[in-house]
Amino acid sequence: MSTPFGQSTVLGYPRIGGDRELKRAVEAYWAGRIDAAALEETAAGLRAEVWRTLRDARLDAIPSNTFSYYDHVLDTAVAVGAVPPRFARLGLSELDTYFAMARGVDAEPALELTKWFGTNYHYLVPEIDAGTTFAANPGKALGEVAQAGALGIATRPVLVGPATFLLLAKGTDGTDPFVRLDDLVEAYGQILALLAAAGVAWVQLDEPAYVADRTPPEIDGLRRAYTRLGQLRDRPRLFVATYFGDLGDALPALLRTPVEAIGLDLVAGPRNLERLAASGPLGGKTIVAGLVDGHNVWRTDLRTAAVRGATVSALADHVAVSTSCSLLHVPVDLSVETRLDPALHERLAFARQKVDEVVLLGRAVRDGTAHLPPAPAPIPAAWRDASVRARLAALTPADRQRGSAAVRARVQQERLRLPDLPTTTIGSFPQTPELRRARAAVRAGGLDAAGYADRMREEIRHVIRLQEDLGLDVLVHGEPERNDMVQYFGEQLSGFAATERGWVQSYGSRCVRPPIIHGDVARRAPMTVEWSTYAQSLTRKPVKGMLTGPVTILAWSFVRTDQPPADTADQVALALRDECADLEAAGIGVIQVDEPALRETLPLREADRKAYLDWAVGAFRLATGGVADGTQIHTHLCYSEFGDVITAIDALDADVTSIEAARSRLEILDDLAAAGHGRGVGPGVWDIHSPRVPSRDEIVAALRRAVAAVPAQRLWVNPDCGLKTRGYPEVEAALRHLVAAAAELRGA
Ligand code: GLN
Ligand code: ZN
Repeated sequence: MSTPFGQSTVLGYPRIGGDRELKRAVEAYWAGRIDAAALEETAAGLRAEVWRTLRDARLDAIPSNTFSYYDHVLDTAVAVGAVPPRFARLGLSELDTYFAMARGVDAEPALELTKWFGTNYHYLVPEIDAGTTFAANPGKALGEVAQAGALGIATRPVLVGPATFLLLAKGTDGTDPFVRLDDLVEAYGQILALLAAAGVAWVQLDEPAYVADRTPPEIDGLRRAYTRLGQLRDRPRLFVATYFGDLGDALPALLRTPVEAIGLDLVAGPRNLERLAASGPLGGKTIVAGLVDGHNVWRTDLRTAAVRGATVSALADHVAVSTSCSLLHVPVDLSVETRLDPALHERLAFARQKVDEVVLLGRAVRDGTAHLPPAPAPIPAAWRDASVRARLAALTPADRQRGSAAVRARVQQERLRLPDLPTTTIGSFPQTPELRRARAAVRAGGLDAAGYADRMREEIRHVIRLQEDLGLDVLVHGEPERNDMVQYFGEQLSGFAATERGWVQSYGSRCVRPPIIHGDVARRAPMTVEWSTYAQSLTRKPVKGMLTGPVTILAWSFVRTDQPPADTADQVALALRDECADLEAAGIGVIQVDEPALRETLPLREADRKAYLDWAVGAFRLATGGVADGTQIHTHLCYSEFGDVITAIDALDADVTSIEAARSRLEILDDLAAAGHGRGVGPGVWDIHSPRVPSRDEIVAALRRAVAAVPAQRLWVNPDCGLKTRGYPEVEAALRHLVAAAAELRGA
């Protein structure tokens, strides 16, 4: 068995289909409109289409098992027998057990969902405990290999590797899942034997966890795992793929194992190349060079990439070219986009186009004869905005600096006259089917702008009336006009483009269409002032203006790479700064700038974090630093494990920070106190991610714990995130309890 690896490959391909066929089929199955056989038929069709596309593009190493009904980490959990007993005991079919783990059922909450490294993809967190018995169950991988084989296409099945699998898992009994590595490796060994018996020549095991900082025992675990798997006699050849950054010390460790191929991300991990050069002889291993960016939408500068490929060639006996990571993170096909500016269109490459790039580069690295097109030209003058550039160049540190926080607090209190433990919400109220229908009607031409605005005002009236009735202290307009908290701004700022069908899977059947930031960003006109001032005109209570922060706007968009992200973030920040000024001038005294993504784009390695936090915090401060002392700036961060972001929260210098804490039992407050945070803080006391309505007593208990860490003057009472996914009955009931709980504590 010595099938060579091939010359060109991708680490994975979008599985949702060009028209989100998978989303529709899976949701139809959940709703009971189609049966399992019909779902499987759609799935088989989508898989076949991907394999044929890759083969017809002349990719010569084609992956399989990259399809998933929901998530590839969950698929791997099933393949190694790690189905938690709480689901196994439901007695459902294999497919329904799978969906129960993904989505929960009445009796059992789903597995936790969390971000896949620095991307907007979310995976399901495997649950492992000392009693988990691993067992090989690679039916899905074998099925895909057989299906592709029947089409005449030999494929390389992909699984999450054992070390990364455990590093991503959660120990449900307090033990560290990683201690189970040797057991798990045995199960992988059995899977490899079954794959080999099915004629599989190569298998891909993904170990992206090693581009983050890892302890020496964790790195040694990686070495041990692949030494063991490499020693097995009945196995396919092993390709260990890594992506999203530099492998660091894990590279020499992997090189010492008998694996036949190692994949390195040379886009997000340029230092991999130096490390490889310093590694000495590679012992005949194939290096799979990730030269085409799988995480962004720009065309590759093929000539520069080919030079990098040639450098790898000089170091390794065998080199193949691949995408830097799975193409899961980019839209399927650029050719269906008909409305993009041609100058933008010609600079882009989606998954299908990236496959062609990989094939071209594979040939260039092999025989250097491919005729490679020149690098994309610098951005056209029309995308540059001289006034934005001049403003950026003229910025001084004072632009990111507000006055003393203590003075601000006093002036704001004189103006707002809020009680202790003021109550508020995070911004959105339920996005009802009627609101979505109104937006669809606008797109379809059945509702004009004036009619739409009427509908939105009607909703705002309803939301304001409800909040007054509930007795909340700082009101919101409810964000009915926002399809999405980033897209809404992207549609109004210059420098952004929207795609028609550029869907990317976010989790399960949920897909997003991230905007593309291609040029200088500038605000054409006020973006939110009309809605906020309308809401304020309906009440004497303060209405909070609502903006999405620069870091989050970047994190949930595809961002230009011809300038540092810090510059793009500052351009967005200037647009938001102008928006803040207009809101302030229109009489809005409280403005919230949401940064839910601040932590998710935190670099995976500690050494890169300071530089990131400097520009991220700097952009937030630029956006918010222009308002008067009497204008209260709020921010909202939607996660609960902050780690070393704690000091960054303080550095944002917001007057009030609301955070997700309902699930993490408010420990964050002690951390903030320890970090010396002396401004307002609103730990979420209602977990809006669940339909459960918290009782008044529960909220009282949470608040009692909170006042032990934060004085009542600085403690805000709010849910832990926006309410857009909830229904009105639960929202009303929960907010009533929340207001009553605050009142009880004030009286105490
Ligand atoms: N203001 C937004 C909302 O309430 C914040 C959403 C978020 O944190 N992701 O929906
Ligand atoms: Zn949130």
